[in-house]
Amino acid sequence: MSDPVEQTLEPTGPVGSVESAARPVLEVKDLHKVYPGDTHAVKGVSFIINKGECLGVVGESGSGKSTLARCLLTLEPPSAGQATLEGEPILWRYGRQLRNIRRRLQVVFQNPSSSFNSRLTMYDSLLEPLRTRGFASPSFVQPGTQRRVAEQLVDLVHLPVACLDRKPHELSGGEKQRVAIARAISVEPTLLVFDEPTASLDVSIQARVLNLLQELKERLGLSSMFISHDLSAVQFMSERSIVLRGGEIVDRFTRDELFEDGRDQYTKDLIKLFEG
Ligand code: ADP
Repeated sequence: MSDPVEQTLEPTGPVGSVESAARPVLEVKDLHKVYPGDTHAVKGVSFIINKGECLGVVGESGSGKSTLARCLLTLEPPSAGQATLEGEPILWRYGRQLRNIRRRLQVVFQNPSSSFNSRLTMYDSLLEPLRTRGFASPSFVQPGTQRRVAEQLVDLVHLPVACLDRKPHELSGGEKQRVAIARAISVEPTLLVFDEPTASLDVSIQARVLNLLQELKERLGLSSMFISHDLSAVQFMSERSIVLRGGEIVDRFTRDELFEDGRDQYTKDLIKLFEG
């Protein structure tokens, strides 16, 4: 199947009211991660993501983006620092608290193929997080049977319901990534982390997936962190962005400020890289 939605990349306008209506969802303070061998992958990173906002995290390969994401997703422990989700500490938690935090933090990774069990239909993979949590259908769909909820979820990401009965190898990369997005939003996370969500897709598909993310953000009021080495994708998705270099934040800017003179030289170099 090919991606069904013909769309072009059209940035929405800057969200000027974000600061005035600010309600912090994620607050990160002085986060560090040192790996054995003294690799200081994340160095004193602090930032806030407000409700309904997308924060871009940009930097070259090896700058610490994925390490930062893994620490905040509680997939590995940081070496020091604090992080709160709607005011509740999320680091170094265990048991039921940890499970609850992980439900509230969902992630869409780069490679959709590795996100699915090859033996399961997309229907079963899609509903797995909801079933694990006792199947309460999300508030943004009409309540109904599991099948009906699954159909509404794939409709939300502009896929035909027939894809539910397919196995992962029968779908394109873009289609699988759409199902991964539907699965991540199904449990109504407090924060979504997109870790290079379009990097493994064909260029022609990337813009369509970014448009879908932008549409869902507007429609569902998603709060998210969008990680990418691609400055144009980050600018399209994010009201505000941070630039990581060697694990440190070297620059911060709003969508409007990206091309201003005051940018850090490293950001300017990244811009040149993408302007070709
Ligand atoms: P990015 O996502 O920006 O490419 P990473 O977070 O993957 O960057 O890596 C940041 C730094 O941490 C790199 O120097 C990388 O080699 C190192 N690193 C990442 N994961 C590990 C690990 N599990 N053990 C040791 N070093 C690691």
